[in-house]
Amino acid sequence: MRAPASPEQTIAPTDVVAFTRLVRDVRRCLACERMAHSHVLGPANGRLDAKIMFVAEAVGRRGGAITGVPLSRDESGKRFAQFLALAELRRDDVFVTNAILCNPIDGCRRNRAPTKAEVARCRPFLERTLAIVHAPVVVTLGRVALESVRAIARHEAWLTSDVATAVAWRGRTLVPLYHPSRQSTLHRPQDSQERDWRRLGEIVRNASVERPQQDRSPIAVASLP
Ligand code: SF4
Repeated sequence: MRAPASPEQTIAPTDVVAFTRLVRDVRRCLACERMAHSHVLGPANGRLDAKIMFVAEAVGRRGGAITGVPLSRDESGKRFAQFLALAELRRDDVFVTNAILCNPIDGCRRNRAPTKAEVARCRPFLERTLAIVHAPVVVTLGRVALESVRAIARHEAWLTSDVATAVAWRGRTLVPLYHPSRQSTLHRPQDSQERDWRRLGEIVRNASVERPQQDRSPIAVASLP
């Protein structure tokens, strides 16, 4: 079963313009030094009128940094695809982005965890994305994404206690999930995560498909971080 179709399938021209500006601004950004500047934001992230927006942590060296598509190709990307299927969601129907739009690398060019300063630096881009993609359901994948969203607008959701729970947030439904990486099973077992994703599918099917009203004001193009 697919996510419920919206009665309103049109994308506002102002959103298209704002997204084009956002993508341009992201591509010009070199604010973080210890990054492979992959700048993974563009049409391949998904539909601007998606009803579900996923926010993961950062672009992966073997995934989005190669394909230009978040959560693709590498193991996390493959697991994400499997989890989407469990939730009965189609990739074509969702928008996927990261709290960090580039690939954090260490001195040996391996993936590393982003610093708090890097997440904060990239946050204005996430905020602008949220203002353009009016998805009624926002799903954070992992603690970094959940905390970055909290810094944009306060919520009281915590990963360990509120995983796969629908939390009201800015007129939307926020659902915290664990990141689809294999390492996350050290913190939450695979079978629990599979249950979480099935629960997400139920939440999405029960959620209102109306776009949130308070986010429909004209898009403000924020300054670069
Ligand atoms: S702020 Fe974001 S887009 Fe800019 S360099 Fe850092 S990670 Fe890349």
